[in-house]
Amino acid sequence: MNKNILYIHPYCNRDNSDFLFLPAGIVGVINNLRKKGFNVTGLNLPLEMKLNPNINIREAIEEIDFQIVIMDCHWYYFLYGVQEVARLCKEINPGCFVIVGGFSANFFRKNLLQSTDKIDIIVRGDSETTIINICSELLLKGKKAIKKLPNLTYENMFWQAKDTNITSFDNDINKFDYVDLSFMKNWQEYLAFKQGEGAPGIGQIRDLKNFYYLPTQKGCLNSCPSCGGSKFSYEILANKRKACIRSPQNIIDDLKRLEQLDVKKIMVSCESKLNDWGRILGYINITNTTFNLVFEDWQLPNKETAKEMCKYGANTDSGFIVSVLTGNEILRFKNGKKYKNEEVIDFAKQISESGTSYVAFWFSPNLVGGTKKDFKETIRFAKKLVELNRLATKPNIQVMMSSMEVDITSLVYSNPKKLKFSGKVWDYEYIIKMLKFREEGKKLGNMSYCSEEISIEEGNNMCEEFNKEISELKKEIYEFRKNM
Ligand code: SF4
Repeated sequence: MNKNILYIHPYCNRDNSDFLFLPAGIVGVINNLRKKGFNVTGLNLPLEMKLNPNINIREAIEEIDFQIVIMDCHWYYFLYGVQEVARLCKEINPGCFVIVGGFSANFFRKNLLQSTDKIDIIVRGDSETTIINICSELLLKGKKAIKKLPNLTYENMFWQAKDTNITSFDNDINKFDYVDLSFMKNWQEYLAFKQGEGAPGIGQIRDLKNFYYLPTQKGCLNSCPSCGGSKFSYEILANKRKACIRSPQNIIDDLKRLEQLDVKKIMVSCESKLNDWGRILGYINITNTTFNLVFEDWQLPNKETAKEMCKYGANTDSGFIVSVLTGNEILRFKNGKKYKNEEVIDFAKQISESGTSYVAFWFSPNLVGGTKKDFKETIRFAKKLVELNRLATKPNIQVMMSSMEVDITSLVYSNPKKLKFSGKVWDYEYIIKMLKFREEGKKLGNMSYCSEEISIEEGNNMCEEFNKEISELKKEIYEFRKNM
């Protein structure tokens, strides 16, 4: 049996090569397929477009022998592109099967299957085992055989989207390989890209230093209402109530492998205490490791983790990003972050007193349940944090503010009235129209959270006011330190 599979990371549209980074989990899914004997060739279209702006995508696909196409559509940014690329694949090989997975494809599965007949299957929930079963059945028996498999949606003979139950789970993520990218064309070039500054999270630029985002958890235990990867999102899209956690030893092995690949900057985004990052950092502190670590903690790092990061930060440019959101504790709790102001101050002091490492605290004015009064409290709290730089050996406490965006697969998006969201909810048709001609390198524009209490404009003004006040304070501290 010919088991050739083409994995494609799609584009937004033919003229837009943004978002070249792969969704973290797909690397584990593809490597698991390879482990089971499938030959997978990966084509990262945004990457190929960046490397060769004149690329003929049809020819690039034609070069590859495939029976099955797997595409990720985790971010809604690809909802249009995934349909175009599916059409192209079917034109090139009319007998192939097209499978699409990811949260956005899952959420809009009915719309997608109604909009195109070029996508055969949408995978839902954990896909590591499911996709192996789907591919085996498709190759052996054809499309009819997949109806009895769990975790998928297909279109039946009456053009109705049919869901099968989500009953297949891959909870032990220690079994998967999240580092080996050798299935993807030009994977070494891929490592040389980092986030661009013009449109953070959207655009990428080439750098001299290799960068990698390392997944260490699948799922999240928190319920931040605007987040599309929350506990709520996993429940509705993957039928899961628990997060899957990679072991410290496996993470240490991943870090070693990344270092061998000459990766100089690694980003991790997770809840540090669940993987015991104190232990992991403790280990890398006794090796000659030199990569910079950017650690986004979903809650607040504990003392041990902060202590080890400060040690690691002595010889590298490594530190934390923490979404502290607001100076009001009740509001912070309501928005998913379970720690008090006092704990934030203690943590910030620990980093400040170390004279190494750093922490960037992120705030937002337009939180669910937030008011203008909370905003005043937020400014006062942020200033208190910045003040720690005044007498520090090295100023290493930063604060920043931007609007809270509502993700498509979030609690707010599904329950706008209940969460008092007063803005326009982007529906499928609106998103597709927007993506079709979406220009490259532009900020997303926003479906910011807004309510009767704080409009989008007021939220934007608050960000400006915050930045102005903080920048004045920073200038004053800078002058003070100069004269010390
Ligand atoms: S914002 Fe972070 S902590 Fe909150 S639900 Fe999303 S992933 Fe979890």
